[in-house]
Amino acid sequence: MEEWTKEEAEKTYNINTWGEGYFDISNEGDLIVRPNPEAKPISIKEVVQEMHSQGVSLPAVIRFHDILRSQVIKLNTTFRDVVTEAKYQGKYCGVYPVKVNQMREVVEEIVDAGDGFGHGLEAGSKPELLSVLAYNTHPEALTVLNGYKDEDYLRLALLGRQLGRKVVVVIEKFSELPKLLKISEEMQVKPLIGLRGKMSVKSQGRWAKSTGDRAKFGLSISEMIKAVKLMESHGLKDCIKLFHFHIGSQISDIRTFKQAISEGARIYTQLFKMGCSLEYFDAGGGLGIDYDGSRSNSDSSCNYTLVEYVSDIVYGLKQICDLEKVPHPNIVTESGRAITAHHSLVVTNVIDQINVKQPNHDTTKHDNEHHLIKNMREMHSWNMQEDNFQEIYNEAVQLKEQGLSAFNLGVISLEDRAILETLYWQIIEKLQNFCKEIEFVPEFLTNLEDSLAPQYLCNFSVFQSAADHWAIDQLLPVVPLSRLNERPTVNCSLADITCDSDGIIDKFINREGISSTMAIHELDKEQEYLIGMFLTGAYQDVMGDMHNLFGRLHEVHVYGDNDDPQGFYIEEIIKGNTSSTVLSTMQYNPELMAQRLKKKMNKIVSEGKIPPRLGVKLVDFYEDCLTSYTYLRN
Ligand SMILES: *Cc1c(COP(=O)(O)O)cnc(C)c1O
Repeated sequence: MEEWTKEEAEKTYNINTWGEGYFDISNEGDLIVRPNPEAKPISIKEVVQEMHSQGVSLPAVIRFHDILRSQVIKLNTTFRDVVTEAKYQGKYCGVYPVKVNQMREVVEEIVDAGDGFGHGLEAGSKPELLSVLAYNTHPEALTVLNGYKDEDYLRLALLGRQLGRKVVVVIEKFSELPKLLKISEEMQVKPLIGLRGKMSVKSQGRWAKSTGDRAKFGLSISEMIKAVKLMESHGLKDCIKLFHFHIGSQISDIRTFKQAISEGARIYTQLFKMGCSLEYFDAGGGLGIDYDGSRSNSDSSCNYTLVEYVSDIVYGLKQICDLEKVPHPNIVTESGRAITAHHSLVVTNVIDQINVKQPNHDTTKHDNEHHLIKNMREMHSWNMQEDNFQEIYNEAVQLKEQGLSAFNLGVISLEDRAILETLYWQIIEKLQNFCKEIEFVPEFLTNLEDSLAPQYLCNFSVFQSAADHWAIDQLLPVVPLSRLNERPTVNCSLADITCDSDGIIDKFINREGISSTMAIHELDKEQEYLIGMFLTGAYQDVMGDMHNLFGRLHEVHVYGDNDDPQGFYIEEIIKGNTSSTVLSTMQYNPELMAQRLKKKMNKIVSEGKIPPRLGVKLVDFYEDCLTSYTYLRN
């Protein structure tokens, strides 16, 4: 076997590709974060140690705010550079769609990092609009409003205009336009209007339904023409400022963008020629993340770089506008995933191991053994060879199945079944060891290997922290946070602590592609074994649910500091939900619950069944659990 190196570990977990340069492995074998090329590397393990010393237990979300800033700056400077290089006449005016991660600190950080670029915000609902009105204060930054709108929504938008903000109401559905006209007349405020096009380009992957005739949002070509006519009849054609489309999230194939840009540019130039004073071309979101590090057009990846994406928009738009002799519009994009995904990760610890194989029951022979056990013993005693291992396997499987039927019919006892199954698992182990020595391993055995992989039980809930893995098979990079200088010798999947068999992670990225197990280390009882789930900053952070009443996670905000010996400091700790909080959201009253318990306990104590001192202690314990974290205490 070759020597295990840092490079081997990097390849095993594909860190360099999905990590975008932010993640690396230290010589000590720890996973490290480098928020920017000049920053001192931060060991995630050391961040966890510091969290523990401040009383923050696992699981927890760690946010690296420097990464968030760096991504905002990278997006803006890339557009700026390509715009200059292409001699493009318009500007880039990005907006961040808050639905991707609405956490106040995330939005604040993005607004702050984007201040020098006039990076704005996008909202898709009334509550999001309420937050955006309060937080998007830059005078030049756009506020783009998508989603279905009622009168309140439209009124709030115009209120934003009265505050002096550049609020653009994107018309998703024709019926919104007459409503908007009515309210703007009533409030005496001229709106800024965007028209969302229903694009015909076929997008691929999970968000394919975002385009085509049956798309949920957007105006058809004839509705767009009707909208322009309606505005014209009100003398308000100059209010149409923006053309918008959004062809779905995580666009994995660059060709989809290229097609959308040319279709969109054609619509834009035509609308311009119809006399709309358009100024903005909004290409929506969709900028992908290479979750699996394969740089391919598979669902969890993308086959292009940021520079390619930006160049395709800038040059594509320039070419068509020049041909049509229409001034270059300002370019808006609504990247959410690409800005937020890298900045946060979920850290969990392995608390136990679930084994399929159970080879440890005492199999000492006893009198009058059932013939099934006798036969299994015989298989067990055979010397495994190239010409008989398949026979041994087939025979053992059959005997195990027969044993189960015999047990169900009451023919063999619990003890007999335990012996039979133990012998079976011992045979399987022999078989697995034997396979390591032979050159050609038949397929049934490679499948067997997967089906026998143990599961590591981790202190977290898939439903709270990796919703997309459960719902849409989203791949997320999962990597041990230390011991990366040691060869991982176990292949296993991860199970969470919910009582739901869907609560597992069984799709992993490895150097060949995707597999149902990940390479991981043998557990060491003395040491906490930490696992990081990466790229959870987009959607995962905010879409989780409270399945089994596991609530929101503790959260720490980390900033890099080159003067600090460890290169970081924890700027803020946000405590996760307590049991009492999650119970309250389900309409329970935790105080009343404690009172009920106490009342019953008082009765038992007064009957002399439990000493008063113990009674108080038990009630205190119940109350303590109510105010504690919902996850396992460790
Ligand atoms: C969800 C959404 C986005 C965000 O897309 P990403 O792929 O996360 O960048 C942008 N615009 C609209 C209209 C959206 O609905």
